[in-house]
Amino acid sequence: MPSSLTRYTTPATRPRPGTHPARRGTESALARTRRARRINRTLARAYPDAHCELTFRSPFELLVATVLSAQCTDVRVNQVTPALFRRFPGPAEMAQAPQVEVEELIRSTGFYRAKARNIIALSERIVGEHGGEVPRDLDSLVALPGVGRKTAHVVRGNAFGVPGLTVDTHFGRLSRRLGLSSEEDPLRIEKDIAQLIEKSEWTMFSHRMIFHGRRVCHSRRAACGACFLAADCPSFGEAGPTDPALAESLLTGDNVEHLARMAGLDPEEES
Ligand code: SF4
Repeated sequence: MPSSLTRYTTPATRPRPGTHPARRGTESALARTRRARRINRTLARAYPDAHCELTFRSPFELLVATVLSAQCTDVRVNQVTPALFRRFPGPAEMAQAPQVEVEELIRSTGFYRAKARNIIALSERIVGEHGGEVPRDLDSLVALPGVGRKTAHVVRGNAFGVPGLTVDTHFGRLSRRLGLSSEEDPLRIEKDIAQLIEKSEWTMFSHRMIFHGRRVCHSRRAACGACFLAADCPSFGEAGPTDPALAESLLTGDNVEHLARMAGLDPEEES
């Protein structure tokens, strides 16, 4: 947290709010693609360890954890899954599980009745229709109870290594703020981003966007004045304060100093 004695070096590349070509509507398609890929490279430098924040040891565990993560934090899901998988380690055991017992184990993740019903039902389908193995293809995954495209892409990308764009609330918000999509619908956002980012980067780009949304570009008050994407963002200064000290106080996570320095801020204690 910067003190009142903290001195900031303001980066030369700092834009004036509202002046980005994407905000003025003068950005060409090629410029947008180049900017999107530059954003991805910058995010990769900022978050070299970006990863799926759910804990899992198998595709089945990731599938269940992702279903549980709806309307719930990954931290909370990671607290309940060890006991859940100790009691019901795989699809065969989960398919036979008494619903009330599953409900009790996952209660703190919210919507626990519907989630328990879906977890048991998807386990039955995996056992009955897929030989006890989580299917890899998108159509089979989204046909499972409680599994949408987002969940399917999380499983394909992180358990099977198939590139996928995971459009969650952070990804959607950032795509709009960065001017990479104007859509609200996740499938349309996915299609817009698929045109801009190389397929091989889809899974990691998703992780990086979600990391940035959790640490810098918050939904209510984004840390614009301490954001390393400011020069490439048409929403700079519109989603949050541009004052460096104020913005830095909004950064979260365990590597705030690295993020501030990436943004060109140079906090130093004056003697
Ligand atoms: S924090 Fe501000 S500058 Fe950074 S990506 Fe979000 S809206 Fe853009």
